Amino acid sequence: MRLLLLTAMAVFIAGNVSSSTVSAEEPAEPLRILMLDGENMHHDWQTTSPILQSILRRAGKFTVDRVTLTPAENYRDDPKIDFAKYDAILSNYNSQVLPPEDAQRALEKFVRGGGGLVVVHAADNSFTEWPEYNRMIGLGGWYGRGNDSGPYVYFKDGKQVRDNSPGPAGHHGKQHEYVVETRDAEHPIMRGIPAKWLHTQDELYDQLRGPAENLTVLATAYSDPATGGTGRDEPILMTIEYGKGRVFHTVLGHADYSLRCQGFVTTLLRGTEWAATGKVTIPVPQEFPTEKQTLTWE
Ligand code: ZN
Repeated sequence: MRLLLLTAMAVFIAGNVSSSTVSAEEPAEPLRILMLDGENMHHDWQTTSPILQSILRRAGKFTVDRVTLTPAENYRDDPKIDFAKYDAILSNYNSQVLPPEDAQRALEKFVRGGGGLVVVHAADNSFTEWPEYNRMIGLGGWYGRGNDSGPYVYFKDGKQVRDNSPGPAGHHGKQHEYVVETRDAEHPIMRGIPAKWLHTQDELYDQLRGPAENLTVLATAYSDPATGGTGRDEPILMTIEYGKGRVFHTVLGHADYSLRCQGFVTTLLRGTEWAATGKVTIPVPQEFPTEKQTLTWE
């Protein structure tokens, strides 16, 4: 009898809960993100990956699975990744050990078929010898990239330049805070983001080159010769269309302190949502870095 009562109460409570949570608008399913790491030359991915994961989780819009690959074993022990289970792949992975052919084709198929890819910082150093990967990231650097990789892309006097002059790809001066400047204010990722904001200490990548097909530069930063830079406005945030898929590429994010910038966080969240869905609903917070003042969380 007691059991029956408890069961009845449970039904009553469950009924109550469901009736109070059913509203005109069903809450959206979380976006499923797969984060890849496991190697990242010159980068402390063991520190930055959990921070990236927590940034995404705190937004309340994403589930984040993390797969740590083992390039030393040449992927032999890695489980096959079912990309189709995800809305977007986020790479914090930088290796020159190419994945097996079937894994390469699987990622290409996923993105080309409409999936999202998010490229964070040195993930654009990865896989120099994988042509389709270079197409997906648009621009890359280091590890043998050069004349044959594609043009340098930068801004000079307010205009985008594609420069085929010979030279190496990938460089940065000394780390510092720098101003990120919007170049495409109408892109969904950028709407509502201040035109100029001061990013916390980070590397400022310059001289990236690559296929740069279907590439849109969303934001740049001035690479000052005084800090070892090029004197050009270098791409910082980019999108690349690859088949039906969308790639968001941020060169920001060298170290933990770089990830704690509210500007990094906001553009990463909005860029990831856009890569996953083609739309952006995550708001720009009122508290945001200004041109003169950084703003960090925690
Ligand atoms: Zn770095």
